[in-house]
Amino acid sequence: MKRLVWVLALSACAAPGPSSFDLVIANGRVIDPESNLDQVRHLGIVGDSIAAISEAPLAGSDTIDASGLVVTPGFIDLHSHSVAADGQRWQVRDGVTTALELEEGTFPVADWLARLEGKSLINFGVTAGHIPGRIATYQGVTTLADAESCRGRGEDPSGPPAWSDGATTAERLAALEKTLEAGLDAGGLGIGFEVNEAPGSSREEILTLFRIAKRRDVPIFAHLRYMGVDPIHGSMAGAQEVLANAVATGASTHFVHLGSSSSIYARAVVEMIEGARARGLDVTGEVYPYTAASTGIQTGLFDGDWRARLGIDFSDVEWPPTGERLSERTFPAVRRQGGSVIIHVMKEENVDFLVGRPGVMIASDAMPLPGGKGHPRGVGTFARVLGRYVRDKKTLTLPDAVAKMTLLPARRLEVVAPSMARKGRLKVGADADVTVFDPATVIDRATFANPEQASAGIPFVVVGGTVVVRRGELVAGAAPGRAIKRGQ
Ligand SMILES: [Zn+2]
Repeated sequence: MKRLVWVLALSACAAPGPSSFDLVIANGRVIDPESNLDQVRHLGIVGDSIAAISEAPLAGSDTIDASGLVVTPGFIDLHSHSVAADGQRWQVRDGVTTALELEEGTFPVADWLARLEGKSLINFGVTAGHIPGRIATYQGVTTLADAESCRGRGEDPSGPPAWSDGATTAERLAALEKTLEAGLDAGGLGIGFEVNEAPGSSREEILTLFRIAKRRDVPIFAHLRYMGVDPIHGSMAGAQEVLANAVATGASTHFVHLGSSSSIYARAVVEMIEGARARGLDVTGEVYPYTAASTGIQTGLFDGDWRARLGIDFSDVEWPPTGERLSERTFPAVRRQGGSVIIHVMKEENVDFLVGRPGVMIASDAMPLPGGKGHPRGVGTFARVLGRYVRDKKTLTLPDAVAKMTLLPARRLEVVAPSMARKGRLKVGADADVTVFDPATVIDRATFANPEQASAGIPFVVVGGTVVVRRGELVAGAAPGRAIKRGQ
């Protein structure tokens, strides 16, 4: 802090001398979605904060020449299930400086945060999770390792586990409530739920999650109970359950992965969200820029007549270890075995609509890549939007895309975590989380066949003032990532 004061005092009376700043990002086209700045500027960083944004050149101990490049706030991913070192090394080269596990969440929150503390490449945070909370309360689990090992749904030959299909009772609901409140007290950024994976959850149980969220002034991160093309029991029904709870309680509510959630009803679901906002409710949503979804083959999504429900067939389901499309013959064995599958389920026009729609944020839904196989969204989401949707398809402008990746997700969390008001912006005093990319070449390279290919055209990424990607390469040993917690 002392050094920051010195620099500011100096810059007030004279041009800063050599090495006034720890890091200078020079000559870049600086885009700040909060002030709408979009000009060539020089960024001066001292410690972990932005200390100057200047029209005149600055001198620093370290300088990145960003001539011809775009300089933006680091991308904030509200939806990542791949926050371990393995996932972060891909996400950071996609420009992500903060990746948060908000949909699934965890239990216990403190243990989850402790696992990354001091070892994290990028910033991290988590919600109190409904499913982890159910695992804890329905199955008597107390540790993070045990909670994670119980997560599989199909392992028990005697049928689905209690956490998933067990019916709500008053006693269990009271215990679940305590578990979730403890998660919020430990720094949880809200309440995440995937009710589709816990079909035993009553309507009252889900309403209770919203009540807790309102009481504690934290957001809900909602996966729909119903998804798919059915005009009565499909995505519209799922969205209406969430919105009814949001309206009835007033809880801040965020719809995860609207592409897969809204199915063929993308426009109608977005109109409902916008309608709720127009009536004063705090309701938002996000999308990842792919027409394929991914989830565990043992989840409730594949229960019952899923082909009719989702409007797809066996051949739309891809098995990542081999890349083969499933058939009526091969599906049962793969479901018994378990693992994540890729589901070619979305229509391009709906994804294009969501990516371009003002207010809809970009978030990856990153998942781990066991054996180097799986959905590429955790590796290429942000570069894909900038390259494919902004540059090639002109679905949206560059400043609008940047806002969807930075300012909007920061604002989503400011109510619960005041520190987010220093992220998602480039201004003096903001955290020095910065992404530098080439608008002419930025593109995702991760594919369904080979997802482990880092995005191109993102040469520099800075987290809390520390350069973590330099000339497109990871800087060895960097671990500047910090926890984002409720109330801080
Ligand atoms: Zn989900």
